[in-house]
Amino acid sequence: MSEKPRIVGIDLGTTNTLVASVRNRIPKVVPTDRGNLVLPSVVALSEKGDLLIGKMAKDQMVVNPKNTIYGAKRLIGRQYASRVVQELKEYFTYELLEGPKGDVAVNLGGSTYSLERISGLVLGHAKRISEQFLGVPCPEAVISVPAYYNDLQRAAVKEAGRQAGFEVKRIVNEPTAAALAYGFNRGLDQNVLVYDLGGGTFDVSVLQITGNVFEVLATGGDTFLGGVDFDNRIIDYVLETFQQQTRVDLSQSPIAMQRIKNAAEAAKIDLTLIPNVVIELPYIEERKGKPLDLRIPLSREQLNALTRDLVDRTFDLCDRVLTDKGISKSSIDEIILVGGQSRMPLVQQEITRHFGKPPRKGVHPDESVALGAALLAESLGNIDAVTLLDALSMPIGFAMANGKFRKIIDKNSVIPLTTSFRLPGPKEDSPIIELDIFQGDSEFIVDNEYLGTVKVPASAAGRRIDFRLNEECLLEVVVELPTGPRHVALATRDTPDTLKRLLAEEKAARARSQPVASPVQTDSGLFRSIRRILGRD
Ligand code: AMP
Repeated sequence: MSEKPRIVGIDLGTTNTLVASVRNRIPKVVPTDRGNLVLPSVVALSEKGDLLIGKMAKDQMVVNPKNTIYGAKRLIGRQYASRVVQELKEYFTYELLEGPKGDVAVNLGGSTYSLERISGLVLGHAKRISEQFLGVPCPEAVISVPAYYNDLQRAAVKEAGRQAGFEVKRIVNEPTAAALAYGFNRGLDQNVLVYDLGGGTFDVSVLQITGNVFEVLATGGDTFLGGVDFDNRIIDYVLETFQQQTRVDLSQSPIAMQRIKNAAEAAKIDLTLIPNVVIELPYIEERKGKPLDLRIPLSREQLNALTRDLVDRTFDLCDRVLTDKGISKSSIDEIILVGGQSRMPLVQQEITRHFGKPPRKGVHPDESVALGAALLAESLGNIDAVTLLDALSMPIGFAMANGKFRKIIDKNSVIPLTTSFRLPGPKEDSPIIELDIFQGDSEFIVDNEYLGTVKVPASAAGRRIDFRLNEECLLEVVVELPTGPRHVALATRDTPDTLKRLLAEEKAARARSQPVASPVQTDSGLFRSIRRILGRD
């Protein structure tokens, strides 16, 4: 047995985490200690005070919801005061708290855990499993993240990897990793569209593959559109049908809802293979001391009718990404599917209709991201094995006094890059200049994500400031001071006053049930769908 340490590629998913490594030049997924290929991304504290990770944590979720942390991928790197977190916090079964850096944290058994620590525990477990299976130390990793992750989210995942004991050699975008799994060392010259419909998110990226050069031409998506929305349509249908049959509203019973949720997802997955199923849940409720059973047939046609608009929305997003960059549909050579929900026959059928060609077979939708991350990991020490030219998925800029967003780096800019501009003067007579940095698609900061604040002495007004994005899409800010260039760490502890004020106004407007005057960002139906997702994801 060789003792040579091995580098691994990790797909740190919302629901599951996968590890892969290259063995004899072929990337392969590492099975878990239980023989599965996936490790549930779940951490829990049992009644007895034991820390559980993975399947053991997932298995006890229904009976221990307050101390079972799932879906960390949706929270990691977010600010506690952000709109998304404030909107979502009541829909989690566990408690969200404010962490020491203003970040969101969770309460696990009375202690505050950062999301980095939670994801670090999952990654640490993945590390142990890999080392056991491969029989060698695995000190280094490449970890994938969604293309739309902002700077803070990327930095947080890197930190989680560090806490797990890894040296994180690279953070890679999931669609780029999937394209690598498809095109590495195949000598291709193609444009590929990566269509990634997972459990909670939809991501689309177009890449040009020329030999082993992978260039992202455009990227976009919806962070709140995924398999869970399909499940929710079935859940609504089941609730309505049952109410019509019995006049009993099951939506008020958490246990019944959990059972319906599980059955809805299972029915959806079965309908990928077979045309008809029956959702059967014996003793779902009691009426006058007698058990009530639930039995509702569902056909693939019915499922298609219930969810067609969700599938259509993915194509609207694909078209938007293509037209933004002036790419024609006919110039796409291959469509690669990623994410479990892309297995749905309606999705595959509509892809064929929309793009005039069927999706590529032979690229495993669940494994390709981990396999691609492993290929990249393996090639890192190997000069010019792979060149990745990634693109920024959301603009970066700073806040103006009126709450508007002044863009500094455009969406789809090729990274790594440096953009320079002159520092504006301080507010009134303040001795310091404060620039509140945001990332997002909206022209209003309140819709975008707060990344942090650059604080420099007022004497720096008019001096050059560089925004540098490295190949991992992590932001570095450098100010040219009289003493020379100075790296400025972004301070994130205090939410900027302008943002606080806007968020408070928005909350008040909502309380009065008035429409909020800021535009809706790309996440259409954002909060409507997340409410459902997070309570039950
Ligand atoms: P992922 O985030 O890639 O693990 O995707 C998980 C989502 O894919 C969940 O919503 C699953 O219900 C869904 N999914 C998994 N397998 C299938 C299938 N065969 N047909 C339809 N949806 C599926």
